[in-house]
Amino acid sequence: MSSVLSDRQFHDEAAAYRWVEARIWPNGPVCPHCGGTDRISKMQGKSTRIGTYKCYQCRAPFTVKVGTVFEASHVKLHLWLQAIFLMASSKKGISSNQLHRTLGVTLKTAWFISHRIREAMREGNLGPLGGNGKIVEADEAYYGKASDQSPSAQRKGRPLLKRKPGTSNKRAILGLVERGGSVRTFHVIQANQHNVASLVTANVARESKLYTDESRLYSGMGNHFAGHGTTKHAAGEYVRYEGGDVIHSNTIENYFSVFKRGMRGTYQHCAEKHLHRYLAEFDFRYNRRVALGVNDEARAASILSGVVGKRLTYETTSAR
Ligand SMILES: [Zn+2]
Repeated sequence: MSSVLSDRQFHDEAAAYRWVEARIWPNGPVCPHCGGTDRISKMQGKSTRIGTYKCYQCRAPFTVKVGTVFEASHVKLHLWLQAIFLMASSKKGISSNQLHRTLGVTLKTAWFISHRIREAMREGNLGPLGGNGKIVEADEAYYGKASDQSPSAQRKGRPLLKRKPGTSNKRAILGLVERGGSVRTFHVIQANQHNVASLVTANVARESKLYTDESRLYSGMGNHFAGHGTTKHAAGEYVRYEGGDVIHSNTIENYFSVFKRGMRGTYQHCAEKHLHRYLAEFDFRYNRRVALGVNDEARAASILSGVVGKRLTYETTSAR
């Protein structure tokens, strides 16, 4: 059964709480204060807020929102679920403006909700991409204007690589994708050999073959992996056949073109400090794409499993 926006949890607050509780507490309520599970009862009565429980071990009341991105939010839970469903199912993302109109909340609230949901989409502590016999493509992209051009501490004493023409004022993104698998992107302050090499080696399994363009950013990478295939874009070469291998970096380039189209079409304004969250959103959808058998409902459920422990602490007024 797949869910649609007419389902009860999107319109009825008590149903929304039940829906979230069933997913965050599959084995019954857990006290967020003391971890207790035994002496908990649901608070009843007309003056009690929906979804309030009391733990008789530590005597504190709580709801399923404690410790999640929903905590300290005055927005009704069923509206949060609508926002999650919309962000999970729209291929190019959904703007704060549209969320503001669809949910009937203020623009500022819509902005805050969408950033919290992006935070829930962020995947942490993942194993390396690739592996034996697998191919990982790496490439950089440049998007938007960089806000800070001052040299980073890491650059001190290291030779600066010349950047591509026209990229000097732009924000650099490094993308890694396993063919037929997942993508992982990073906003890097400076796309130089040192930063690129440390991210690639930390996130790609040594047994993989690495494919890139001819950029000097990747020179010497062959020592770290089972192989390093390159194509010479400057010479018009985009695919090269070598033995049984098809060397190209079209998969990661396609990812970047979807990202850039989405950013231009949906999110015209994006402060540099939030770029990593937009990248997390596009990574999240790519890694749960229809081609991998993931539907809208499974994608929304996956966001919900990411809401725990992802409380954002910055002020809403620091928006954009
Ligand atoms: Zn307790």
